[in-house]
Formats: sequence, structure tokens, C-alpha cells
Amino acid sequence: MSKETIESQTKRYQFLQTELARLEHAYYVLDDPLVPDAEYDRLYRELLEIENRHPDWIRPDSLSQRVGGTPLKDFASVRHAVPMLSLNNAFEDADLVAFDRRCREGLNRQQVTYAGELKFDGLAIALRYERGILVQAATRGDGSSGEDVTANIRTIRAIPLKLLGNNIPEVLEVRGEVFMHRHDFEKMNQLAAKQGEKEFANPRNAAAGSLRQLDSKITAKRPLSFFAYGLGVLEPNSWLPKSHSELLDRYLQLGLPVCSERAVLDSIDQLRQFYQAIGLKRESLPYEIDGVVFKVNAFSEQNTLGFVSRAPRFAIAHKYPAQEALTTVLGIDVQVGRTGAITPVARLAPVEVGGVTVTNATLHNEDEVIRKDVRVGDTVSVRRAGDVIPEVVLVIKDKRPKHTSAFVMPLKCPICGSHIERIIDEAVARCSGGLFCAAQRKQALLHFAQRRAMDIEGLGDKIVDQLVDRNLVRTPADLYRLGFNALADLERMGSKSADNLLQAIEFSKKTTLARFIYALGIRHVGESTSKDLSRYFGSMAALMDAKLDDLLMVNDVGPVVANSLVSFMSESHNREVIEQLLALGISLNQEEGSVNVDLSGLTFVITGTLPTLSRDDAKGLLELAGAKVAGSVSKKTSYLVAGDDAGSKLDKALELGVNVIDEEGMLRLLGK
Ligand code: NAD
Repeated sequence: MSKETIESQTKRYQFLQTELARLEHAYYVLDDPLVPDAEYDRLYRELLEIENRHPDWIRPDSLSQRVGGTPLKDFASVRHAVPMLSLNNAFEDADLVAFDRRCREGLNRQQVTYAGELKFDGLAIALRYERGILVQAATRGDGSSGEDVTANIRTIRAIPLKLLGNNIPEVLEVRGEVFMHRHDFEKMNQLAAKQGEKEFANPRNAAAGSLRQLDSKITAKRPLSFFAYGLGVLEPNSWLPKSHSELLDRYLQLGLPVCSERAVLDSIDQLRQFYQAIGLKRESLPYEIDGVVFKVNAFSEQNTLGFVSRAPRFAIAHKYPAQEALTTVLGIDVQVGRTGAITPVARLAPVEVGGVTVTNATLHNEDEVIRKDVRVGDTVSVRRAGDVIPEVVLVIKDKRPKHTSAFVMPLKCPICGSHIERIIDEAVARCSGGLFCAAQRKQALLHFAQRRAMDIEGLGDKIVDQLVDRNLVRTPADLYRLGFNALADLERMGSKSADNLLQAIEFSKKTTLARFIYALGIRHVGESTSKDLSRYFGSMAALMDAKLDDLLMVNDVGPVVANSLVSFMSESHNREVIEQLLALGISLNQEEGSVNVDLSGLTFVITGTLPTLSRDDAKGLLELAGAKVAGSVSKKTSYLVAGDDAGSKLDKALELGVNVIDEEGMLRLLGK
């Protein structure tokens, strides 16, 4: 090797030692990782490769010879009588094959039996039980001494304070993993975000950070869990079963939690199958794992194989592809959803995450981008789990280039140019061009045509899809411009159906103001609000010109609805569509829509057969005037409208002294 290459490799080696030490400190000591695990692993592997080429460079303080991080001084220190080691990793099938070969050769056997289990993503803990009572709990620390976290461990419900049964050894040091379930982690982070506190990067860091709290009252509030998977000190040694799998069975009898996803495996093929089967389940497990662990099952064989510097020779962790990777943000765009919701999206330099190339990642909403402070040019960690849309987890702030600027939500919709609105109490910003925006077109048309709105029979999603995709219809107004030929030309549409649809469109022109308002699909304006608005304003023109204060005068209209209306009506595109619809012959039944009398606050009950009106019609008329129509008579009933053959309701009304009127009396109250 040339002198220059040696020099540059020495430099690189020194850089890796310093850089990895910095990353490890943040990860193990501060529980606040600076980069995703895959990035750390990449650098760590590079360090091992250099050491492989230059074994004489390895010093006892090289990171490859050490386990974990320095214990925090804040806790009392606990020396581990049996060191708590790390695990060697297999990233590829070849690594696994080599592990099996080494075990078989080391034991001089054709076949070795392994215990397969999950590699939980939490932190290792040693629990010391004396005569069945939990007396001490310690973290792994640097492998030879850890932190005394007994008080905190006692708060974890899954960990028994006293072991069960009669077969209890004098001293038993149970080793296992403290971790946090995914849903508990999400809940905890949501709460932290709400209270403006710092969120944890992942469940592992959340578990570690929660356990290493000086105040165990805080730990008690954190939803931690535990699985046992190993053994430290044991007295007397005669208590020990023959194999690891039997040890875990015995743990269960003692009341210790052991994960049920485990198996005894006899060949490399079975190891592969276990890895694949768990890989398929990985996303649906309620906690995170980053691999599976294989351990030679017989303790006698484990002893024969022994240890290398920082890990046992008899075990290996077979890792799954990382779900997180680093890349750079090339741009931040906003996307418009079917309901007008605006989602900021990071455009990324292509990066492999979990076996898939990722080029976009969601940033969820404006608040998220601002909270994470994601900027164009930033190096970010991107996470992709299963089928979930990739997301930006964190920004590597110390890699930020100079002269970047914070994200600003655009003011106009990138699709239609309408204003982007952020409604009070909502995290999501929306495009206000509801009727006009191409991204929202199909949804807006289906809503417009539905039975309770304009009631255009036969205009379902298949037809709307074709009309929009062929650019025949851009806004609801275009529906009224459709001709027979355009419709008959659509797939699965005969001339009869085209005729029927044309007729339904024509019929829909005769409608009521309330239905029309509802059909516009204004956010937060449902059917009943539409009726209230129709009654109050009496005409579309009045509603279109209403100011916020006018709207707030309407029954049941609060600031959210009023703001949504103002924003919709202030969008010129929407006003144009409304004007076009009216010009195309939509006639709003002013009679039905207007308020001649106001019966709001009164409650009616209708009973018996009325001479001219059906009960539904009578109900409709009363409701239009703002009255409530109830099904049974009570002291709160203002009027009972009684027709022929009125029965028990009439008796009840008389008994309670409720006013009883007939149809004519009702019409008089309605001013008819
Ligand atoms: P490790 O996590 O690879 O393996 C050892 C640990 O596995 C044990 O201590 C134990 O806690 C755990 N484990 C889970 N299930 C187990 C089982 N069934 N049997 C035995 N042990 C089990 O080793 P490590 O030294 O703790 O840490 C290395 C890991 O930490 C890597 O994944 C690395 O990416 C990550 N790391 C990341 C950063 C960063 O900056 N992001 C820094 C340092 C380390």
C-alpha cells in the first residue's frame, strides 16, 4: 500500500473513532441520537473494515472493543459480576452462514441447535433477585458497570417484585430488555408535543430516557414494558437448566414476562425461515424490533464457544433492513388532497430505505414543518415503515448549509390558485377553491349531485370519473352544459341512460335554497346549517354578501362555520361558479327558503291524519319556519297538531294542558 493511501486511511480511521464516539455519547448517554442507526452502523462497519486490514492499529480503547456508553454519574454505579455484552450483527445471509459455520466448527459438530428470538429495540437491564425478591436493577452502561435504576424499575408493572413458585434460586440475575409499545410511544409523544416538551426520536430512546430519570415519579408515568431473555449471576449453579430455551420456560413459571415469538431451530434453513417469518410480522408487532437473535441453545456449548472482546461467539443478531436513512431535501412542495387539505411534501435526493427507493416524504402539516424546522438543503433522516408513507423524522442541524430559509406556507393553491386558508382549531390548511380546484373536482361533483343536495339521479362516481378525466366537466356548472352526445359517448352508457341522466340534470334545476347551499360543499356547512342559512338570508345573493358578523347572527352558526363561509365566498372562482349555475337556470324555491314567520323555539307534535297535508309535509313546513317537530308529547311541547283518529298523544296533551290545534290552525301559525 502506498504511503499516501496509508496516510489517508489513518486519517479516516481517526475521524471514525472521534465521530463514532460523538454519536455514541448522544445515543447511549443522552438518549438523543444525532443520526439514524443505519448511518451509525455504516460508519461502524467502515471502522471494522479498516481494523480488519490493519489489526495492529487496534488499541484497547478502540470503539470496536467497547460496549455501550459511560454510565451517568447521577446514578450510583453497579459493577456487573458477569459483563453485559453486545451482540455481533449479521446484515446479509452470508453473515448468517458464516456464523453457523463458525459455531459448527468451534463445537466440532455437523449440526447445532439454536434458540431463535426477537431483537427488541429497547435497552438492556439486569434484575437481581435474592431469594425471589427484586433487590437491584442496573443498566448495561459500558458493559462492566452500569447505573443503579432500582427505584425506576420498580415502577414497571411487567416486572415482578417477587418471583412466583417454589423453584427459586438463592440469587438470580435476570437479563432482558425494557421497551415501550408503539402506541404508548405515540401517545406519549403526542402529549409531549401538546405540552411543548421535547419529543423522543423513537421508542428505544423513549424507553431509555424514561428509565434513566432521576425522579422515579416521572418513570412511573411512562408506559414501559419488559421481556426477559438472558442470565447473569446465578447461585446455586445447579439450578440452571440445560438450554437457553428451557431457561426462558422456567422464567415464565417464575412470573417473568417472556416473548412468545421464539423457536428452537436446527439448521441454517430454519434460521432463515424464522428470520423471514418474523420479517413479515414485524410491522404488525406492537413493539419495535430491529432483527432476530440466534443463540446456541445448549449452555455447555455456549461455554465452549465463549466470547470475543465485546460480544459472545455463540449468538448473533440478524438485522432487518434499516427503516431510516439520511438524505437531502431538494425542495418542499405542497400537495392538495381530494378535500382540499394541503400537505407539505419534501422532495428528496433518492435514497434506499428498507429496500425501496424513496424520493418524497410527507411533512404532514405546516406546524410539523415549523416544529421540525425542515429547510431546503437540509440533511434529514427519513423513515419508512411497511406501507406507511415515508416521513421526515428529524433534521441533522449540524449539516445545515449556510443561507437556508425557514418554510413558509404558500398563500395560493398550487393547483387552482385559490387562497389557502387555515381554519381556527385545525392543523390542516386547505385550498378554498372547493368548486373550482381540479384536485377537489370529483369529490365536489359527487357531493353536489347527491340525493340530499341537488339530487341528480344516476350521476355516480364512475360517471363523474369519466366526465372529469375527459375534461368534459370542470365545475358543477359544466354539468348543465352537457349535451346528449357527450353523455352517450361515455363507457357503459347507452342512449337510454344518457337521456335519463340529462333529464335528471334538468329536474335538479328546480330546487330549494337550502339544498343549493348544501350542494356547494362548503366546509363545515352541513344540511341543517344550510337550512338555517336559507331561512335567515332568504336568497343566495344575501348569503354571498354576508359579513362575518351577519353570519354569526344565524342560529347555530359559530366562528368556525362563519369563517369557512366567508373564506369560500371571498374566493372569486367560487362566486363565478355560483353565478354561472344561477344563470344556467337553477331556480331556488324562494317560498320554501324564505322566512315569513319565525317559529324557532317552539316544539310541535303531529298526530292523526291531517285533511290535506301528509305528516311529512306538515313537518317540513314547520321545520322550515324554524320549529322543532318531536315524536312524543311532553310538558315542553308547545302545540299538538291533531288530525282524525288522534289517539293517546291527544289524551296526553289534554292531560298536560298542551295547546291542541288542527291543520288549519297550524297553517295560520305559518302565515298561510
Ligand atoms: P445491539 O443493540 O446491536 O445488540 C445488543 C443489545 O441487544 C443487547 O444489549 C440487548 O439490549 C439487545 N437485545 C434485544 N433483544 C435481545 C435478545 N433477544 N437477546 C439478547 N440481546 C437482545 O448492540 P448495542 O451495542 O446495544 O448497540 C448497537 C445498536 O445501537 C445498533 O443498532 C446501532 O445502530 C445503535 N446505535 C446507534 C447510534 C446512533 O447514533 N444512531 C449510536 C450508537 C449505537
